[in-house]
Amino acid sequence: MIPVTKPFLPPQEEYQKYLEGIWKRNWLTNMGPLASQLEMELKDRLKVNHLLFVTNGTVAIQMALKALDIKGEVITTPFSFVATTSCIFWEGCTPVFVDIDPKSLNIDPAKIEEAITENTTAILATHVYGNPCDVEAIDHIARKHNLKVIYDAAHAFGVNVNGKSIFSYGDISTCSLHATKLYHSIEGGLMITKDPDLLKKIASVRNFGIASFDTFSNLGINGKNSEFHAAMGLANLPYIDKIHHKRKSLAELYDKRLLNVLKATRPVWHKESHENYAYYPIIAESEELLIKLKTELDKQQIFTRRYFYPSLASSLPYLPKLELSITEDISKRVLCLPLYYDLTFEEVEYISRVILRIQNN
Ligand SMILES: *Cc1c(COP(=O)(O)O)cnc(C)c1O
Repeated sequence: MIPVTKPFLPPQEEYQKYLEGIWKRNWLTNMGPLASQLEMELKDRLKVNHLLFVTNGTVAIQMALKALDIKGEVITTPFSFVATTSCIFWEGCTPVFVDIDPKSLNIDPAKIEEAITENTTAILATHVYGNPCDVEAIDHIARKHNLKVIYDAAHAFGVNVNGKSIFSYGDISTCSLHATKLYHSIEGGLMITKDPDLLKKIASVRNFGIASFDTFSNLGINGKNSEFHAAMGLANLPYIDKIHHKRKSLAELYDKRLLNVLKATRPVWHKESHENYAYYPIIAESEELLIKLKTELDKQQIFTRRYFYPSLASSLPYLPKLELSITEDISKRVLCLPLYYDLTFEEVEYISRVILRIQNN
């Protein structure tokens, strides 16, 4: 059996080492020393000024909307994980969907302006598969119309654009450290901002809005994360480069075996950036071919994922249905192939052979 993804685990004794400290200190959660250490090491590694370790990538988006006091309409992408949209609605705002660019699969900035109304307050865009959005165009539109920008950078750990971290764009960027993501802390999330005042606000939102022992500064929630999760984050950190390198080699082998032979294309990556190999998506020539591939691969115990299908604009029971042509089309034809650290080159050869055999049958 070959799953679509498998979490990376560090050597058990390296995690164990952190646990000994937790037992000695008896400090289990609430911004403990390991959570602080993880924040420091990540800031250092990613070269960002302000970063907070939070519960998960979903609560990170909710807290970003709350900390920026977003109300009314939020322009967003229909081609993302459901949390991107559900967070907007959960916060009492209205998601306004804008179609995607067929090459990058990110929100199309050229279509954002026509969706802006007097009720628009923010843009929430996803760097899909880690591929940077057109951040300059989005920032330009946001400045012109006085809108806040939040990037759902759940897939984008380790991605740089124009020589700096993708997390440094937008008013707030959020990331997910869920077990299935490129870099993980079992469950976890990150919030990144350039603005030190906003950082203070987010830190307060993360901790129930408590200002001091007997005062409250704002509405807050429990958005903290534990020492055990921080320990996994710390234990995984030394392996990031190794993980990246292995995934890169595996993806390049898929490219070699499938590109120009398989009737499918790949998303086009941002020119000023490099792939982080969080996923290996292909866009099949037709939905028919995709279903044929997926059905037959399932039978062979090779598991792929229709990530992201269906379009969020036309499938959520709590929102009116809207069919955006490019998203409808792409979401029906996109498939992510197995890609994870433990996957072997032999397995990629095997998967590629099976895929081509199914296509040519
Ligand atoms: C995984 C993911 C999230 C949610 O992150 P969790 O840590 O699982 O809550 C949000 N947005 C996108 C695009 C994701 O892939």
